[in-house]
Amino acid sequence: MDATLWVLGSAGWMPQAGQETSCFLLEAGEHLIMLDAGTGVANLDLAAEVLARHDRLSVLLSHYHLDHVVGLMYLKRFAAGKRVDVYGPGRPVYPKTTEEYAGDLLQSALYSSGSSGFAREVRYHDYGGRDFDVCGLPVAVRPQIHSSPSFELRVGDLVTYATDTSFDPAAWKDCVHSLLLLHECWQVGAGDPRHTSVEALAAGLPRERFGRVLLIHHNPSWGADERAEVERIAARRGIELARDGMAIAL
Ligand SMILES: [Zn+2]
Ligand SMILES: [Zn+2]
Repeated sequence: MDATLWVLGSAGWMPQAGQETSCFLLEAGEHLIMLDAGTGVANLDLAAEVLARHDRLSVLLSHYHLDHVVGLMYLKRFAAGKRVDVYGPGRPVYPKTTEEYAGDLLQSALYSSGSSGFAREVRYHDYGGRDFDVCGLPVAVRPQIHSSPSFELRVGDLVTYATDTSFDPAAWKDCVHSLLLLHECWQVGAGDPRHTSVEALAAGLPRERFGRVLLIHHNPSWGADERAEVERIAARRGIELARDGMAIAL
């Protein structure tokens, strides 16, 4: 299956120096899939021709933190004529459904179009921490360690998306091959236990299981020195930092 992934938002937490927050667009055959909907949704102009080819967009959410969902309200500019299906963890891993969380976030006092007004038709689904499929394309789900439940999402054998998680090498021992791994990186060494350090990833990732590995969800607090250090350690294992605007043919 011909597939391309666009990096629309490679930062975590907040936009910083030309990097928007978590959002990736995957075109795989007839499927158009968005991985998280952070402020990077604003970069959808970069894939305008791709958007025009599809009547339907499926948005897969790793969790509900704002840097991963606030861009839902930007979809009105790009997807007003489309059907949009939003898949979030929902029940039973959270006390509310994805539809209820979207209703809280996009309530009319905060966003005039509301949680179902940003597309021609909006449908919400809970994957509940279990594997699911999007119009026949399988999505494998693994729980991660974060401050709220977050989930690794593996779309077919194309892309493994692991963000907002600490890195546990034991959990990656039997991981399945993907052409592309998008993995978060928040710090150089040990620090915030809810996130991943490049040192832990470089030491424990079975690099050979993945065609290409890109670090995402960069910490907006990094200075130039820290970014250079992350790049240097990653490069030793053939790992690159993602940049907004990258288009990767799979
Ligand atoms: Zn985040
Ligand atoms: Zn988070």
